Amino acid sequence: MTEKIQTLIAGHWRDASGPAYSTEYPHDASTVATLHAANAADVDEAVQAAEVARLKPDWAGLKPHERAAILHRIAAGIRARGEELAQLQRLDNGKPINETRALVASAAGTFQYFAAACETFEGAVTPQRGDYLSLSLHEPLGVVGAITPWNSPIASEAQKLAPALAAGCAVVFKPAEITPRMAIELGRIAEAAGVPRGILSVLPGKGSVVGDALVRHPLVKRIAFTGGTSVGIGIARLAAEKFMPVSLELGGKSPTIVCADADLDHAVAGVLFGIFSSTGESCIAGSRAFVHASVYGDFKRRLLACAQALRVGDPSLESTQMGPLVSGSHRAGIENYVQIGLDEGGKLLTGGGRPSGGVNGINDQGYYYQPTVFEGLGNTARMCREEIFGPVLALLPWSDEADLLAQCNDNVYGLASGIWTRDYKTALRIGRALNTGTVWINTYKVFSIATPFGGTKQSGVGREKGRASIAEYMAQKSYYWGTNEAPMPWAGIL
Ligand code: NAD
Repeated sequence: MTEKIQTLIAGHWRDASGPAYSTEYPHDASTVATLHAANAADVDEAVQAAEVARLKPDWAGLKPHERAAILHRIAAGIRARGEELAQLQRLDNGKPINETRALVASAAGTFQYFAAACETFEGAVTPQRGDYLSLSLHEPLGVVGAITPWNSPIASEAQKLAPALAAGCAVVFKPAEITPRMAIELGRIAEAAGVPRGILSVLPGKGSVVGDALVRHPLVKRIAFTGGTSVGIGIARLAAEKFMPVSLELGGKSPTIVCADADLDHAVAGVLFGIFSSTGESCIAGSRAFVHASVYGDFKRRLLACAQALRVGDPSLESTQMGPLVSGSHRAGIENYVQIGLDEGGKLLTGGGRPSGGVNGINDQGYYYQPTVFEGLGNTARMCREEIFGPVLALLPWSDEADLLAQCNDNVYGLASGIWTRDYKTALRIGRALNTGTVWINTYKVFSIATPFGGTKQSGVGREKGRASIAEYMAQKSYYWGTNEAPMPWAGIL
């Protein structure tokens, strides 16, 4: 049954003011929910209300440990509704239920982490260099905007909302149009946890309308953005005009390197997980696997056997490893890339099509796609240069380390990389040479909220996660507190 949902704008639950639209379950293309998109007037109303609310004593007057208590209650609220949220997120973007459960648990952990960071965050008494006491203190930036994509909504939204609330900011959320549910439910949970009215608004709708208005709004003092690189560049341009700080978590084309001495059991499992988990709809997907020529044949044989055995199927089943893609248009884009790979002379080793309906509960109306592996393409092929954001892997043999590193780094993106080797010196040498924000060694796609995350080059600027990220939502202010017994001598007061 289609659910009609409202959203939280300026402290009120109501329909947004833009056109009605519906969300779709990628498993069978059925309509899940109907809602209204927001428009520029909603953005202005939400931002104005946030600016008023953030200065009121019930938010501005809270001590850090009191804000931390609210964040703890949000974590508890997420856990209390954990299964329901995991099921809702599955319906929004078709991710397998085991994965959405893990994302929900990580979101709760994010609020818990930033609660601790909030009440232990310290300013500094800086070393005295004159007759004064000098202090470096932090204040909330004000109203901040958070813009998120559809692939892991609750996790990426928690990573923005938790540090922003911990810092004492007010937040206006713009979730991806097709996956609004998690942000809206976070609004409900935050409200029940004691976040005052107006401090958090959630505005679903089009990026070119709602996102753009949010970025341009003069009262918005920071944008935390996760999404594609071309949109990120546009946001950076607009932000420059306002001198507004931004964090941009953008695309990737991450290399994973299998060395001659790698434990192949670990390497095959890690490369498979790196590209095919989340159906490849992951910014950190390890989409280019560079495998040493001496183990290439063995690695390929084992990888293909495992790829063909992956359980692609109904995301509600706990046995499913790969669910459907998020939408028909996204699948069409991936099919187009596979055709480009073939046209470029690539050899399709497995996949490259839609799986049969019925198997593992696959619905023919859904947006399923097979785990797909290519070889025979050079690193300069489009398939190896551009982000596909789907379950498509290119295998590339290597033998010379300097050439390998040049190929890995010869890409506009620099988000993540992986290394499989038994030798710690090799791991460190290659890790240092890779120009990526994250390097995984003998593991892949593991995450800690305590460890900063972000990219280099066109994968973005700024870092999320880690206790220092609270400071990204704060302005530093310096105080000099005179301690001289006498007036300043310069004026010559007698
Ligand atoms: P997208 O850039 O199209 O959209 C992301 C968000 O930006 C959405 O909410 C969208 O509505 C909004 N948006 C679109 N145009 C806008 C504009 N002009 N102004 C303001 N906001 C606008 O990306 P997507 O297709 O939703 O997500 C896939 C992309 O996200 C991939 O490139 C992926 O690599 C990237 N991603 C990056 C990370 C990371 O942490 N680096 C994580 C997940 C996804």
